[in-house]
Amino acid sequence: MKRNLVRIAIWGFGAMGSGMARMIMKKKGFDIVGVSDKYKGFEGKSIFEILKLENPFSHDVKIENNIERILVEEKPDLVLLATDSFTKNAYEKIKFVVEHGVNIISTAEEMAFPAAKEPELTQKMDALAKKHKVTILGTGVNPGMMMDLLAICISGVMEDVKDMEIARVNSLSPFGPTVMEEQGVGLTAKDFLDKMSKNEISGHVGFIESTYMIAKAFGLNVDEFRQSMSPIITDVDRKSPYGFAKAGDVAGVDMRSFATLSNGNKINMIHPQQIEPQLAGVSTGDYIKIQGNPPINLANVPEVEGGIGTIAICVNMIPHVINSKPGLKTMIDLPVPRAIMGDVRNLIDEE
Ligand code: NAD
Repeated sequence: MKRNLVRIAIWGFGAMGSGMARMIMKKKGFDIVGVSDKYKGFEGKSIFEILKLENPFSHDVKIENNIERILVEEKPDLVLLATDSFTKNAYEKIKFVVEHGVNIISTAEEMAFPAAKEPELTQKMDALAKKHKVTILGTGVNPGMMMDLLAICISGVMEDVKDMEIARVNSLSPFGPTVMEEQGVGLTAKDFLDKMSKNEISGHVGFIESTYMIAKAFGLNVDEFRQSMSPIITDVDRKSPYGFAKAGDVAGVDMRSFATLSNGNKINMIHPQQIEPQLAGVSTGDYIKIQGNPPINLANVPEVEGGIGTIAICVNMIPHVINSKPGLKTMIDLPVPRAIMGDVRNLIDEE
């Protein structure tokens, strides 16, 4: 006998949350039982009207501000939370979902390895999840896969691992106004440096989480971690759907991180992100170089697109999270991620 449909609620219907709804609607065995977003323009609207897609379910799904009704009345198996980047901002939402006895996957970058920056909240979340017998996971394309889990997986064929260099060269063009602002696209170099000194440019969030995840996977600690950020100044005018940088201004952010693990190994990360990189002759890609035996030199060109990658990994991890033992998990605690191609119910363990 087939188990019931896998009941999903989505909290945050922006670029990621709405993309997850689209993906779920194309798969077999899922039901979207509720969507919550605080944006006034969404209130009471059907998600199918917003997405301009035919409703594949036997009921409508209207966006509501009140997640509590969805948790209590619709009893989802899992909530996809796509509202935040930082653990401290996502924490109350995660707690609320867990206290209703519901599993949760968060896109918050810091939740990919929350122990790196928020060890106390990490312990609290783990204890809460165990008490309510549910699982919490943070994931995404990066952190969550391209600059951490992929390197960890490939090390499985290595007898010895030495220094690592992990690079992701990506385009910011597909992203919206929030990302343009967070990355300083369109600012003059002077304004960028002013804002950077006031911590008003976030750049990439995730190097420290990726580094700690790799160290933990190897059974090591992080002895030293530092990161740097600098503006990418364009020589030519560049325009993307939500960004514009004129020649001489900022087209993106070049981020680097440097870490030493407790055995002396180095992990260096390189992550330049900019709008329209091709206009500066820059090709995008994901690169992992690991010294050791055997040496590894992986390249994926062009980059895995950040939006699709994040949407897919969150949806694809749903069965693993539902099947998991309770607690706060990271990508190194759960089975290998893989695309859901058949009926998702075939991937859920018997009760
Ligand atoms: P977005 O701005 O397009 O959407 C966020 C949505 O959440 C908005 O519709 C907003 O109204 C809603 N929201 C925010 N707070 C809410 C609340 N308290 N209650 C209800 N709704 C609320 O952002 P996005 O592109 O969808 O990304 C979501 C988050 O995921 C961002 O913080 C982003 O940085 C992160 N992210 C992580 C990765 C990764 O690789 N780990 C990749 C992409 C995005």
